[in-house]
Amino acid sequence: MDVLATTKSLDNKIGSILRKKNLSITDSRKKILTLFLQGTDALTHGDIEKKASDKFDRVTIYRTLQTFVEKGIVHTIPSTDNSIRYALCNDCTEGHHYDDHVHFICSNCNTTICLDDVVSPAIELPAGYSMQNVQVIINGICNNCGIE
Ligand SMILES: [Zn+2]
Ligand SMILES: [Zn+2]
Ligand SMILES: [Zn+2]
Repeated sequence: MDVLATTKSLDNKIGSILRKKNLSITDSRKKILTLFLQGTDALTHGDIEKKASDKFDRVTIYRTLQTFVEKGIVHTIPSTDNSIRYALCNDCTEGHHYDDHVHFICSNCNTTICLDDVVSPAIELPAGYSMQNVQVIINGICNNCGIE
């Protein structure tokens, strides 16, 4: 594949995502968005720091991620090991996330995947309780690790 062409289309994609959210294109936003666009699974804060720390300090990385979450570019995924994970959103808007899909954590390769087409099940709560959001995390073996 033409490397230059792929870099260019990635640049275009990043540009259009940031423009849509009224964000200026900065090096840190570009770098961190590239990490998300190149991978298919969710990234932990630590992953992102490791991959971007040669150019950006922790505060910059943290602020960039906060901005992305606020603007509806990425959503957070709670995990059992206390490390927040981040994944790209589909059609979220500033201040409103519509990521009601199920997340899958592979216990073999440890990746966290957004199952965009699997919607969290409806849950009946006892009287007096009101729900704000549901996070469904499924642990198991992903389709990369599973034996056919
Ligand atoms: Zn979202
Ligand atoms: Zn796996
Ligand atoms: Zn997700």
